[in-house]
Amino acid sequence: MARFDDVHRLHGVEVVQAARAKQEEMTDARELLSLRVTWRVSAAWASKEIDCTLKGILEACGAACCKGETYWPARASGTGVCANLGLRGCTLGDGKPVTCLLYPFRLVGSNLVLHGRTLIPKSGYCSPCHRRGGRSIAENNRRNFALLFGEEVADEIVRNTLADRDTTVEVPAWVLDALEKERAWEASNTTPPGRPE
Ligand code: SF4
Ligand code: SF4
Repeated sequence: MARFDDVHRLHGVEVVQAARAKQEEMTDARELLSLRVTWRVSAAWASKEIDCTLKGILEACGAACCKGETYWPARASGTGVCANLGLRGCTLGDGKPVTCLLYPFRLVGSNLVLHGRTLIPKSGYCSPCHRRGGRSIAENNRRNFALLFGEEVADEIVRNTLADRDTTVEVPAWVLDALEKERAWEASNTTPPGRPE
């Protein structure tokens, strides 16, 4: 028959195991909570009138963000033109990097703002498309927002921007995963191969 001490010890083990299980449960919950990442889309920037459309590209900027030596991925080719740029635009289609789907926005902390120099007259990549077309970059970038965050959120971004309100968006895990890979490619100046479907 088990002695009192043994029973006490056994009971103690159960208590410790139960406490550990509870702690693990709480840690999982905390991890899940910390995985919920949100970004804020700045209405001040998203309301800028930028003609990022096929018309704007053909008549004004010439897809300048896919060229040049300043920003990744374009600079990775070393030729002045991104290796993924074909005659009909990006050969990666909707599988282009998240970085490109966001452009001309970029992430500063958890805020989506425009690249600082992109609207500088003459030298800024988007400057030829600035103040033309009559629509905000939030409207013209809507399709990309839908690819990243879903249709409803894309509509919300446009609605809020037009009402001069910022939008907080929950970032899907696949977007975060893709960005992590892209940061590594950017650091090694590698041309992105596209995302597996
Ligand atoms: S990957 Fe595509 S969208 Fe991105 S810079 Fe290159 S050509 Fe442009
Ligand atoms: S993001 Fe700017 S440079 Fe790139 S296609 Fe749109 S308007 Fe042109």
